[in-house]
Amino acid sequence: MKLKSIARVFSLLMLLVFTNCTSDEKPFIREDLKDQENDNDDENTNEGDNTPLFEFSVSGTGIDYIKSTDPDTFLSMEYLGQFAKEIPGVEPTLDSNAYVFEATFTDGKKIGIWCRSNFGTLQRATEYANKLTDKLGKLPVFMRDELNHVAVFSGASRASAEPDGKFFFISDKRIDERIAGNQLEETVFHETTHVYFEKRYGTSTEWRNAQNTDGIFVTEYAEDNPNVEDIPETAIFVYTMVKYPGRLSQNIENWVKENIPNRYEFLETFFED
Ligand SMILES: [Zn+2]
Repeated sequence: MKLKSIARVFSLLMLLVFTNCTSDEKPFIREDLKDQENDNDDENTNEGDNTPLFEFSVSGTGIDYIKSTDPDTFLSMEYLGQFAKEIPGVEPTLDSNAYVFEATFTDGKKIGIWCRSNFGTLQRATEYANKLTDKLGKLPVFMRDELNHVAVFSGASRASAEPDGKFFFISDKRIDERIAGNQLEETVFHETTHVYFEKRYGTSTEWRNAQNTDGIFVTEYAEDNPNVEDIPETAIFVYTMVKYPGRLSQNIENWVKENIPNRYEFLETFFED
């Protein structure tokens, strides 16, 4: 507890040092975050600056892109029993006694939720499977339909997509952290974006051209991993702007339309009904 507080103070100090060192570079991220929290749409101060808008799209922005009240296609979940399933995150990947659930959605689509046997009891596995179902129900249908299953394990905070197997895996700790930050919908969206888009478009000529023409990334994470993270990082902004215009601050909407119009245009078509 004490160590944690010291670490927190230390990171705050580092942030102050960092902010001071780069004060001539327009600390737009902090400014915009402040605007978001205060619900105050001041003018975009980032015009002409070539730095990304945020560090990450999901954590640290304070933005509730997908709300708990948004439409949800989840219908019911059934427990099927314990079976051998591949569940990454803990070695060995093959778990001979995974708790296997099946979530059903309003149009009949089914998605497996496989909880590693290290959850210990069916009750605990059920509790975590239940935490995911309505988040899956909030995915755009074309993305949700690409998912075969979600693998869940008990352990260190982690989430990652496996586009080849059409699934993502996530730990109990990450689920709880994201729920605490009201961002589990966004994490489920992010990982599913990998599953749908990565192999189809991540390194496609269309996307590459859009990246090159825009010449700037929405987050540092996207900039550092342009082939894999740029679509997921960008898609959450475009999805929100297309489905819920005005939900993001005017600052952010303007930034996206002014700075990454080609990627916006590419992704917009997927999210329009
Ligand atoms: Zn990612």
